[in-house]
Amino acid sequence: MFILKGIEQLEKAIAKAKKLRPRVEFDRFGRYRVSGSKGGFYTVICKKSDNGYKTVACTCRGAEKGLVCYHSAAALSLHIGLARRKPSA
Ligand SMILES: [Zn+2]
Repeated sequence: MFILKGIEQLEKAIAKAKKLRPRVEFDRFGRYRVSGSKGGFYTVICKKSDNGYKTVACTCRGAEKGLVCYHSAAALSLHIGLARRKPSA
């Protein structure tokens, strides 16, 4: 899991996602399934913590170590698009 502080953090992961083009499936708002390079799917969960930080968790091994993986980047691009469309409460 990592805390999303800015888009710069995602640059490398986005570049990798663009190259590998994983399939991103929408599960529900904030929860996505992203196809892995060796088959299967990883679950990515994007949420806002109580202190206002956006946290991203992926079930792959890299993310477990706190790395920004391309699955997270792929899911986030969808998540951010959806969040913009969602009327703010
Ligand atoms: Zn991942």
